[in-house]
Amino acid sequence: MKICVLPGDGIGPEIMAEALRVLEVFRGEGMKLEFEEALLGGGAVDATGSPYPEATQKVAREADAVLLGAVGGPKWDALPRPQRPERGLLGIRKDLNLFANLRPAILYPELANASTLKPEVVAGLDILIVRELTGCIYFGEPRGITTEDGKRVGRNTMVYNEDEIRRIGHVAFQAAQKRAKRVCSIDKMNVLETTQLWRDVMIEVSKNYPDVELSHMLVDNAAMQLVRAPKQFDVMVTGNMFGDILSDEASMLTGSIGMLPSASLDANNKGLYEPSHGSAPDIAGKGVANPLATILSAAMMLRYSFNNEASALRIENAVKKVLASGLRTGDIWEEGTKRVGTREMGDAVIAAL
Ligand code: NAD
Repeated sequence: MKICVLPGDGIGPEIMAEALRVLEVFRGEGMKLEFEEALLGGGAVDATGSPYPEATQKVAREADAVLLGAVGGPKWDALPRPQRPERGLLGIRKDLNLFANLRPAILYPELANASTLKPEVVAGLDILIVRELTGCIYFGEPRGITTEDGKRVGRNTMVYNEDEIRRIGHVAFQAAQKRAKRVCSIDKMNVLETTQLWRDVMIEVSKNYPDVELSHMLVDNAAMQLVRAPKQFDVMVTGNMFGDILSDEASMLTGSIGMLPSASLDANNKGLYEPSHGSAPDIAGKGVANPLATILSAAMMLRYSFNNEASALRIENAVKKVLASGLRTGDIWEEGTKRVGTREMGDAVIAAL
């Protein structure tokens, strides 16, 4: 199994190192894993001028899965848009046709106090946000800043065709079949025609899944319900822009974005696995970043791309054990627990494995 490793920028290399050490444990036990490292994001821009260089495209296309740290940082914020690190991220998602982003938001009982919401509102939370990743306003044309009638005009286009909506619908319904069998589709059909089509197609897709209950919610209400009563949701399915925002909101319900993995899959379960957070330039290089989201992303990789549920569970249980033992990185630290750095947290997970 070939893994393309993209550490990226900021805390990316630090957290990736821990995930790789965890995977080394499995390799040491005989699992056939091959790693090939490549550049993505700001580091790639510095070295080649492109955030997703050709050499990286080759490694990523030939791999069975891609493991990514994070990209971006203030150093590259002033670059022209096509050279920005985040373009590398959009580029690789599009190139590998990774249209389905799966982001679980699970609250570990030990971290109930880390949430800014009352423990009774979030304790036991387990939702899965399924976000469409290769369409919508992030990719729609026409786009750009032009001058019209002497004024600068900014323009982006929100567009979905029915096939794009249908395939993400199937992913969401199939995920729900393995969970609590409820899908809530998020749209803004009272204002946006694109999302009227989204709702119509979701209703059509739901006919294939009579065991799953489909409901609909407008995105503004969904943002509110996520903080009012988040446990009402099982699977939420939504488009690229709404999903971007709602999945960050959902991740904060759990107390730390440093805990949450994500998977982006193509039609054949080839996937890109990455933590839900960014490159955290404010703490980069200090050895304090939480590596657990990246380690849990490696677990998702074993589950979805390598079909190895047992090993995925082993990693997830090791993480639970470490949290239960009271170790915490700074982002999830609270009174009465022991503050540790990135490397120590990785050591603890490996020991628990
Ligand atoms: P961020 O997620 O990097 O950081 C937000 C806050 O969370 C910061 O205070 C940071 O210190 C903290 N944080 C994030 N991950 C953490 C971890 N593992 N452990 C401990 N604390 C953690 O978001 P941002 O500050 O909005 O963005 C910073 C850069 O990352 C920007 O350049 C942005 O474009 C980029 N970004 C990249 C990705 C990605 O690579 N997938 C996603 C989002 C943002």
